[in-house]
Amino acid sequence: MELTMQERVERVAIWAGFKYSPPICDCAICSSMSWIAPDADIAFNGKPFHSSLPNFPESLDACFHPEYGLVRKLDGYAIANRPEESSRCRVSIRIVNRYFRADAETPSLALFKAVEVAIDQEEKENATNT
Ligand SMILES: [Zn+2]
Repeated sequence: MELTMQERVERVAIWAGFKYSPPICDCAICSSMSWIAPDADIAFNGKPFHSSLPNFPESLDACFHPEYGLVRKLDGYAIANRPEESSRCRVSIRIVNRYFRADAETPSLALFKAVEVAIDQEEKENATNT
């Protein structure tokens, strides 16, 4: 079963600490704001602040956004340029003492995919532990 890109972003966002929250009304703007960022309650004085799903695969700014939680879950990361390759970027991430890596054409997509590798591994281990 292959996930759509939307589903992949949701999976990574949930791993980063996002929570789904039904939109507060049906208008086009509110309908796209159906997520609560990990630190939204801290950042906005206890009121959950709805936001749209972060565009992790296409935005390093989103990946590194302090309220979006993604890089905070990492203990280290490295982005390497590989100009001779068609996948021009390689990102390695460290979580505790383990390393996960992925290649892609852009650094944001490579980081996103490296996180997916880590989530895949976590899920595999959780499945065998229970
Ligand atoms: Zn509205």
